[in-house]
Amino acid sequence: MDGAHWDGLRSLLPAYRQITNVAVKDGATTAFWEDNWTGDAPLCTTFPVLYSHVAKRGASVQAVAKHGLASSLVPRLSTQARTELLSAQNMLSACIQCKANLKKKNILDSDVCELCKCSAETVSHLISGCSIAQSFWRHIGWDPLRIPPAADLWQIEAQADAPSRSPPTMILLCCWNLWLHRHDVVFRRRDPSLRQLFSCREAAELWRWRLPPAQRSDVEYWRTRFVM
Ligand SMILES: [Zn+2]
Repeated sequence: MDGAHWDGLRSLLPAYRQITNVAVKDGATTAFWEDNWTGDAPLCTTFPVLYSHVAKRGASVQAVAKHGLASSLVPRLSTQARTELLSAQNMLSACIQCKANLKKKNILDSDVCELCKCSAETVSHLISGCSIAQSFWRHIGWDPLRIPPAADLWQIEAQADAPSRSPPTMILLCCWNLWLHRHDVVFRRRDPSLRQLFSCREAAELWRWRLPPAQRSDVEYWRTRFVM
């Protein structure tokens, strides 16, 4: 599987490696879907529809960490599977190495968000609480206060006049861009930039081909929103 969309998702959760280091050593002998390594239940049980779209069952945590969750799936996902994918990404995001999680592990002394400098950097904060994220949502006509917390993001409902079928995919795109933007600020010392966040306009075009044919025209809506 290739394409910028999947390249993006491949590194969507860079924390995978840290997760595997902490929880399952190097993950080489732990089955990503079938073993209970996340704490609650095997992922194949938690996300049964998504599991039915797995291209290679029995893949190790290490292999999925290396290539990305989405790249372990068949190219065309059903609507339910895409919803479960978003949910799975979000569940794993609780382990993302945002500053709040790192502080809990005593790896960092401070968890203050480097974008707004005034709140703890949790995943939910990055998605909808941070001032620049809120500007992003408002700019596309969405109320950031109606964006669910990260763990419940799969329950997001379309706002404004957005097409009702494709939000899980497009919200994943928005979150991915917010995460990339955060990396630019934290690791590349760039200034927070709303303009940079709207580079997802080009990505939306690439993601079009991962939507079912009947939903591809929805991308036009999102392209008209992702402009400064
Ligand atoms: Zn912030």
